[in-house]
Amino acid sequence: HAKKVGRANHQFFAPEMNAAAGARLALEHALRQALENQEFELHYQPKVDVASGDVVAMEALLRWRCPQRGLVPPNDFIGVTEEIGLIIPLGAWVLREACRQNRAWQLAGMAHLRMAVNLSACQFRQKDLPEFVAGVLAETGMEASCLELEVTESVVMHNPAEAAQILDRLHAQGIHISVDDFGTGYSSLSYLKQFRLDTLKIDRSFVRDISSDADDAAIVRSVIALAHSLRLQVIAEGVETDEQLDYLRELGCDQYQGYLRSKPLPAAQFEAMLRAGAAGAIGPVLKVVGR
Ligand code: C2E
Ligand code: MG
Ligand code: MG
Ligand code: MG
Repeated sequence: HAKKVGRANHQFFAPEMNAAAGARLALEHALRQALENQEFELHYQPKVDVASGDVVAMEALLRWRCPQRGLVPPNDFIGVTEEIGLIIPLGAWVLREACRQNRAWQLAGMAHLRMAVNLSACQFRQKDLPEFVAGVLAETGMEASCLELEVTESVVMHNPAEAAQILDRLHAQGIHISVDDFGTGYSSLSYLKQFRLDTLKIDRSFVRDISSDADDAAIVRSVIALAHSLRLQVIAEGVETDEQLDYLRELGCDQYQGYLRSKPLPAAQFEAMLRAGAAGAIGPVLKVVGR
């Protein structure tokens, strides 16, 4: 009887499992092709100074413009690219493209804004990461002080001793380091004094209900105090309403990022937004220089 059930189960599950495995293989293949076919693109979201309202930096966010699947968000494919090792060449493309674009905007006479790039754990485990980044800066002509690298707590906590060295070598070049999704990583706070860091990014899960949930407000207030007492800057992610921004201003948050100001935009639209801002709406930091 058991054998019969087993066979029945086997017959029931096998086609589904094959279908899942097949879909996964197809996705891996499509992602490899996507890099060759240049189907990846970067969108850019402004980072805004809370006090002045000026755009002071931008974050590059990866998208996959797949002919079959449409515009695919990073959470749907970054994990797979990490598992198959594709994140190394893909991450290299992201860094190069972000630096190239930022330098192109500078050469076109726009203000020198900092460009933030997300790093995955796999990239961070490459021992030559600092040299690789230095090479991309040299190649693209972008100043190190205009580059910001965003890493999550889990990325640096994977091997703290090694991470501390890598961060030192990046910092020595003048590159800005941010901790992404701060507060969601279950790690001890002791790393904050071991690592060379410049900015904490408060995860948007704490920002969402900041004006109605006393616990979230307390966490955000504490993170801002912690950052400032460690001489770090602090930026809030996922700001969608004026109410949230007013609250963050009151708590002394330095910068914010979120749909309230702008969703991540394709390069041409981001540039148009900056140029419109240069005419007055965004603030002095964006005034076109050299023209
Ligand atoms: P992240 O680095 O924490 O990026 C912030 C995410 O929040 C982005 O999602 C952004 O579009 C979204 N966001 C920004 N403002 C708001 C808001 O006001 N409300 C809401 N609900 N969401 C907002 P996105 O672009 O889908 O990226 C998701 C994650 O994918 C990123 O989280 C980052 O961890 C990863 N990622 C994106 N690009 C890259 C990349 O080039 N390399 C690597 N390794 N990871 C990347
Ligand atoms: Mg980020
Ligand atoms: Mg984040
Ligand atoms: Mg996030």
